[in-house]
Amino acid sequence: MNALAARIAALIAAQGPISIAQYMTMALHDPDYGYYATRDPLGPGGDFVTAPEVSQMFGEILGLWTAQAWHDQGKPSPARLVELGPGRGTLMADALSACALMPAFLDAVSVELVESNPVLRAAQIGTLGRWREKTRWAGRFEAGGKPLFLIANEFFDALPIRQFVKTPRGWCERMVTADPSGALAFALAPEPAPLPIPGPAEPGAVYEICPAATALIDAIAHDIARHGGAALIVDYGHGGGAGFGETLQALKDGAFAGLLDSPGEADLSAHVDFAALAQAAREAGCAAHGPAEQGDFLLRLGIAQRAGRLGDFEGLDRLTGTDQMGSLFKALAILPAGAPKPEGF
Ligand code: SAH
Repeated sequence: MNALAARIAALIAAQGPISIAQYMTMALHDPDYGYYATRDPLGPGGDFVTAPEVSQMFGEILGLWTAQAWHDQGKPSPARLVELGPGRGTLMADALSACALMPAFLDAVSVELVESNPVLRAAQIGTLGRWREKTRWAGRFEAGGKPLFLIANEFFDALPIRQFVKTPRGWCERMVTADPSGALAFALAPEPAPLPIPGPAEPGAVYEICPAATALIDAIAHDIARHGGAALIVDYGHGGGAGFGETLQALKDGAFAGLLDSPGEADLSAHVDFAALAQAAREAGCAAHGPAEQGDFLLRLGIAQRAGRLGDFEGLDRLTGTDQMGSLFKALAILPAGAPKPEGF
């Protein structure tokens, strides 16, 4: 058992079983041992590779998409350009470089990076050296008084989820408990949860919700409805229907690991429920477009032509191939209700 597992077991001994959301929060963000508090999972020898680390084309296209949305909305100035979970800063650096084609956009925006990980913040400061004076950092998303242009890649999949399991007595929350030796294990809450979970389901079916994601989309969409702007959320996940099926996974050293085996040492993530995000955006008064499959989205925005210019056909294949990142990953756009339909959808 590692030190964080012992800390979690002590908490459970004191207060009883904890939700999977609370377990994820501790495993990812414990200040001493949390996965995202202590390391750079994207660097050489890291646990996973993200689209901006595959090819500069990804950040370039997302940047130009954002500048186009800004242009379509009458070039508001000043405006905010916010990225959630910027990783090593690669996406934002490529986005800003591409936006040199639209200097008025670069003049209009201030850059804000929402990052909780001190190791990655240091990497971002290095990557974004050229843009340092127009960039600031925050630990969480804050609504502001200006048009909001926001991008997030592989951020929502790291937000804590809750799981419910269908039993003869109803939908019971799956909790994390500890046996007398301190070993972590799953257990079902004895009482069913009073949640409006849709549709019939077989016993044993699992339903996932991500309250942190819907709350964040609510805040972003209210800000966009009020001040204008656009958000582009790219992540892996499912497009339609309810969040049935168990998708929470642990990745350690590039391989799947047990969810409870070594908290803080494995990345934990779950499929993003894009239908739930789109619904939250609409309820906040915005229009939601998509989700579009990442491959379709990037191809509509001209990635094949860009790959031809750069000679980067491997990057093209990895980002758009249906057996690679092209289908599983999806893009969702959130815009003011009356704004023109964005490119790529
Ligand atoms: N977007 C980057 C990195 C994805 S990894 C890329 O595509 O390469 C997830 C990122 O979100 C990391 O930067 C991580 O530190 C950050 N992160 C995860 N949970 C967070 C939270 N609750 N608040 C702020 N940042 C968070």
